[in-house]
Amino acid sequence: MRPALLDPLFADASRLQGIGPKMALALDRLLAAPPAKARIIDVLLHVPAGLTDRRSRPKIVDAVAGTVVTLHVQIVELQPPPPRSRAPYKVLVEDETGDCLLVFFLANHDWIERMLPVGEKRYVSGKLELWDGHRQIVHPDKVLDEAAFAKMPLLEPVYGLTEGLPARIMLQATTGALARLPGQIPEWLDSAFLRQRKWPDFNTALEAVHRPQDPGDIALEGVGRTRLAYDELLSQQLALLMVRAHRRKPAGHALKSAGRLADQIIKALAYRPTNAQTRALSEIIGDMASDHRMLRLLQGDVGSGKTLVALLAMAHAVEGGRQAAMMAPTEILARQHYARLLDLCTSVGIRLACMTGRDKPAERQRTLEQLAAGQIDILLGTHALFQESVAFANLGLVIVDEQHRFGVQQRLALGAKGDAVDVLVMTATPIPRSLVLTHFGDMEVSVLDEKPPGRSPIVTRTIPSERIGDVVAGLGRALQTGQRAYWICPLVDENEDLDLAAATARFEDLKQYYGDKVGIIHGQMHSRDKEAAMEAFSAGVTQILVATIVVEVGVDVPEASIMVIEHAERFGLAQLHQLRGRVGRGAAQSSCILLYRGPLGEAARQRLQIMRDTEDGFEIAEMDLRLRGEGEILGTRQSGLPAYRLADLTVHAPLLPIARDDAKLVLARDADLASARGQALRALLYLFERNEAVRLLRAG
Ligand code: ADP
Ligand code: MG
Repeated sequence: MRPALLDPLFADASRLQGIGPKMALALDRLLAAPPAKARIIDVLLHVPAGLTDRRSRPKIVDAVAGTVVTLHVQIVELQPPPPRSRAPYKVLVEDETGDCLLVFFLANHDWIERMLPVGEKRYVSGKLELWDGHRQIVHPDKVLDEAAFAKMPLLEPVYGLTEGLPARIMLQATTGALARLPGQIPEWLDSAFLRQRKWPDFNTALEAVHRPQDPGDIALEGVGRTRLAYDELLSQQLALLMVRAHRRKPAGHALKSAGRLADQIIKALAYRPTNAQTRALSEIIGDMASDHRMLRLLQGDVGSGKTLVALLAMAHAVEGGRQAAMMAPTEILARQHYARLLDLCTSVGIRLACMTGRDKPAERQRTLEQLAAGQIDILLGTHALFQESVAFANLGLVIVDEQHRFGVQQRLALGAKGDAVDVLVMTATPIPRSLVLTHFGDMEVSVLDEKPPGRSPIVTRTIPSERIGDVVAGLGRALQTGQRAYWICPLVDENEDLDLAAATARFEDLKQYYGDKVGIIHGQMHSRDKEAAMEAFSAGVTQILVATIVVEVGVDVPEASIMVIEHAERFGLAQLHQLRGRVGRGAAQSSCILLYRGPLGEAARQRLQIMRDTEDGFEIAEMDLRLRGEGEILGTRQSGLPAYRLADLTVHAPLLPIARDDAKLVLARDADLASARGQALRALLYLFERNEAVRLLRAG
């Protein structure tokens, strides 16, 4: 079904001139995932990472050391090394202003003597250095005669390569690939938009990027590259919207609820919902009341009060006669939700239950029966909820808390638990706007951008680990005033190699000072023990909780006001932010102490600095994006989401919302992509292999 016009681009790259079987394999390794074959389109979309600028053609006397120069020289003298010596072969060259040595290590003498005959003139290009006060070029990149020089590009694209694939071959491959670009590719961008942006057409853009005439041609901000990035983003947004439109159409149940139960809950609270909570809730119940199926992401920084929003949404489902389920990533969290919501639910007549992998068989059996009989309104739990044996009587709403802990697969499997089930995914990872559009483009987004009132800012300090004694002493004073502290260590067991402070060892240390007031929790404990440790801390029986990063997600102990993080330099920004979010939940002044072991690398130094400077999760996420690139933020590498080939969000992120609006508008007018522009956009979808969307085209 692919337009025949595009077929040449999907031929194997091994068909390109000059690409033998061995080079074809290298291209496969670089551009495809063998056994898949690299195709011509892959070669075209593998754009240069940089540029060698050979335009500087000074006289020898003017050549600047450390720069790439192209010299026109006469060969004066060959200086081969003595036999069996490991010294380099040198060739003395000159022009009318001075001389220069060309230096070749482990050289092929025949080649040198053939390429650089004494008395002849040649062009040589490479990086000029000063050595012992003398000019030299070690292994010039180019040694050319007049005819070859006339064909040499002065700006040479530099490609990302793989072992066994010389730059020369990559250049040859791209030359061949560019030659196969069909001339008649229809323009899929709006012509007025194109003119306004002064962007070239697709072919011209590809040519400019692969064969730059000006350094700007290759820059991420250059018009050619920008256009290509936009094409990639547009194809993605279009695909996401098409998939979503398709998904949303069939499934739907218009929930009827006057909000009576939710109002009762709100009345029973000791506080009032924030404006952000109210807004998010109304967006959610708007979705639930419509006959579309809801697929919504609720983003809110740690402590922004997502649980209440979830509860109120579930109350609407229950009032509308349906069941709701909320899934937490850990047993501790599921139990914590249950403990916190039980009284509230019971008081308004909502039947709440909790199910985790730890339940006794009889207990579990009873829960299952009640669930199937519709005697449970809201079921909380871990992913145990989504096992096959769990059958709901009338499931209407599924909420996934802290979704980044769940894989993409699980997210997809969610809707399968019942017909027309609304899905709300909650995350505390502040996701930069640009990434939301990219990776959650198939979801609507609500944001809790306001924290409940009455919280004082968290004072964050960085302290070198040598001063750990001061920190321990400081804790002693805080304990006397009844405060509670988390103490986070990166690893459970002593690992000499990494020299990490082990939680168990630290626990013993702190016990020497503070005895029974110290508790410990880590990932290798039985869940029963974890829960007991959490409860003791929550109740104030222990006041210091030594922990590995198990407390990272969601745990809520409002009385905790001190967070100590050891080896803070080893944590990522997102993690530090999550951890810090565990304190500052009550009205008491809270503090976060980042213990670090120097010397700090530049990235680590910046991370700690950012933590000191701001508490704003979105700001931190943006910085994180800048420091690390997008791949790691959402763990996309593991989840198998493709990275972009042409777009680089650190530069092109502003194009995303434009591409999204563009795609929306197109689909609003021409959902089947039948118009002329629609047809052109089909070609775009094929080119970027948006197969999910292409499949829908075929179906339609
Ligand atoms: P998170 O978004 O991190 O899941 P929680 O839902 O656990 O946050 O809420 C954090 C704390 O804030 C809880 O103790 C909760 O009771 C409290 N809280 C939630 N909403 C409000 C509000 N509107 N006013 C005051 N406190 C609130
Ligand atoms: Mg939470």
